[in-house]
Amino acid sequence: MKKRLFAAALALALAAACAVIYLRAGRAELRSASYRAGEEGLTLVIDAGHGGEDGGAVSPSGLTESSVNLDVAARIDCLAAFFGVRTTMTRESEDIAYPDTADTTRKRKAEDQKARLRKIRSAPNAVLISIHQNSYPDPDPSGAQALYAPTEGSLGLAERLQELLVASLDTSNRRAASEIQDTILLMNSVSCPAVLVECAFLSNPREEALLRTDSYRLSLATVITAGFLRSRGELSAVYGTEMPS
Ligand SMILES: [Zn+2]
Repeated sequence: MKKRLFAAALALALAAACAVIYLRAGRAELRSASYRAGEEGLTLVIDAGHGGEDGGAVSPSGLTESSVNLDVAARIDCLAAFFGVRTTMTRESEDIAYPDTADTTRKRKAEDQKARLRKIRSAPNAVLISIHQNSYPDPDPSGAQALYAPTEGSLGLAERLQELLVASLDTSNRRAASEIQDTILLMNSVSCPAVLVECAFLSNPREEALLRTDSYRLSLATVITAGFLRSRGELSAVYGTEMPS
């Protein structure tokens, strides 16, 4: 019996791994197919927080926020494209090409933020989901949290995402969706629906260990994609467009 269960679990794990490999390989194709669907409908803009000279938070054992953000964002990109959503990412690599005129770290970061904003603003019917990891000096705090921009449609999306993150990943998580601080420039400069997801705490040993696993990153991406898909009706109403059937 145990052997059979093990075989079933292994088959499932292999199927999941194959799906990820297939999705990664077919990403560009999926993306161009959803672009061919035309300009109507929403564009999911996935922002992998930090990158380039800005690594973001770092866990005590050296896991960088920028690398986790990029990996989770790329998985969301695959999954959403698989469901026919037009997607774009604000960055697709850990390297960022800064203009030569930006000769200090501060200027380079500012240029990067401006480039991301241009990308978001040029996407038709954009919905922004920004991926981040939290960190705190104390190792105790844990739990994902969705933070919404002060724009139409953002609160509803954040509440949906928070509900799914709690129900699917950690029912002991007592955090609620809340409005983002006005110091977070990107989230306060956009006019589209926008939510920043703090997926987990890099400073919490249990969550840091989870973030190191392929399966948890895939779970995070799946939950966030599902939250977006379930909110499409409400988000489409913001733009007065039809929800794709
Ligand atoms: Zn961050």
